[in-house]
Amino acid sequence: MSKQKDNKGLTVKKSENFSEWYTQIIEKAEIVDIRTGMKGFIVIRPWGTLTMEKMYDLYEEELQRRGHKPVIMPSVIPESNLKKESSHIQGFTPEVFWLETEKGEEKLALRPTSETLFTPMFKLWIRSHRDLPMKIYQRGSVFRLDTKATRPLIRGREFQWIETHDAFASKKEAEEHVKGDIEITEEIMHKKFGIPFLPLKRPEWDKFAGAEYTIGSDVLMPDGKIIQQPSTHLMGQKFSKAFGATFQNEDGKEDYLWTTAYGPAISRILVSVISMHGDDKGLILPFSISPTQIIIVPIYKKENQKKVIKYSEEIKEKLKGFRVEIDSRDFYSPGWKFNEWELKGVPLRIEVGEKEIKSKSLTLFVRDSQKKEVLKLKDLSKMKKYSEDYDKRLKAKADKFSNSRVVNCKTKEEIKKAVDSGKIAKADFCSVGTEGIKCAEKVEREIGADVRGTLANKKETPKSNCTICGKKATEVVYIGKSY
Ligand SMILES: [Zn+2]
Repeated sequence: MSKQKDNKGLTVKKSENFSEWYTQIIEKAEIVDIRTGMKGFIVIRPWGTLTMEKMYDLYEEELQRRGHKPVIMPSVIPESNLKKESSHIQGFTPEVFWLETEKGEEKLALRPTSETLFTPMFKLWIRSHRDLPMKIYQRGSVFRLDTKATRPLIRGREFQWIETHDAFASKKEAEEHVKGDIEITEEIMHKKFGIPFLPLKRPEWDKFAGAEYTIGSDVLMPDGKIIQQPSTHLMGQKFSKAFGATFQNEDGKEDYLWTTAYGPAISRILVSVISMHGDDKGLILPFSISPTQIIIVPIYKKENQKKVIKYSEEIKEKLKGFRVEIDSRDFYSPGWKFNEWELKGVPLRIEVGEKEIKSKSLTLFVRDSQKKEVLKLKDLSKMKKYSEDYDKRLKAKADKFSNSRVVNCKTKEEIKKAVDSGKIAKADFCSVGTEGIKCAEKVEREIGADVRGTLANKKETPKSNCTICGKKATEVVYIGKSY
């Protein structure tokens, strides 16, 4: 056994030092290795990659069910494309990695996002309203030369995501589609991964560079800081006008395309999965995405080894349809294996030995509740229910945490108290248009928090004046500290 393997468990409590807990868990559970020698670029190890593959699969299934088709776009963008839409390039310029090219060739950028790759293709592919809507997506990496401090999976110079780019004949259809994007976040990130979020329409000063508006999904982490998860953007006709991407509408007239984009960053969503569900023993992965859902640990001596392994294989055979592994590594003790699979967050563990063979049963250990029970072999058919209950439990626990962390605040002092204790403050506010920026800056300066936006799927009416300036309030905003 190597030294590193002896010292596998986490040495800090999540509730006492979340930051150190996170640093340890991503390394010890073999999610990532940060030792690449490059700032902001990391290796995602097999356990992390396999988990992300499952997350990608669920997302892509849902996207395809809603009519999106996959494409593979180049990783580079010509300088002239990137510069076509002025607010877009202004927003992204400081973050672009430029590549050296042959003399006389146009400069190329590593894609920080791909609006300026998709829109010129829309121009070529879409001729008339009959080609619409066009809904496409790609999975891949994007690159951002972030000068701020990087943190593995949270903020990196390369991250893994899906970006959808969609074109429509009217603003109404494009806006309906944006609502559909929020439904996808609900269906997958919340219902499948158990991560609750607030869909917040960003204030005017905080929208995506080049968008008419942006709706972000804010997730509160256990340390009381907000992490932004998938955002969806109504680009309107800004990019189509910049690229001259038109179509013939139903009246036979040329019109510019209405476009939208949606970007679930899978590597970043993994941060929320790790942080929300994990405990002091390690990861707790939802059943839906755990690379191994059920681990069978055979407990044997030399003389009954064959018999116990055979019994384990019979159980595995009965669990067809689940991702099941048998851990028959000879050189580790059962106790060591238990710790390892708990650290890696496998939802269910089955222990079998002589006792279980005799009674035609198995011992089942449940990762999140830490409870053990004995099941009869014939009760294995209950496993489907176990798996569904497992994910429901994780989601319910996360929902309870999130719901208890949003508080109504009537004064600046109340907002400060709320965000300082790791909560999200809800307060009446003068405006999320440009005229509200002064109050937002005051919130940043005096409270150390951000105005994140207004609830996107429900209109909330303010009851009094702006909590910051005292002028008439027009909106109810959510305020919190963020990553
Ligand atoms: Zn104000």
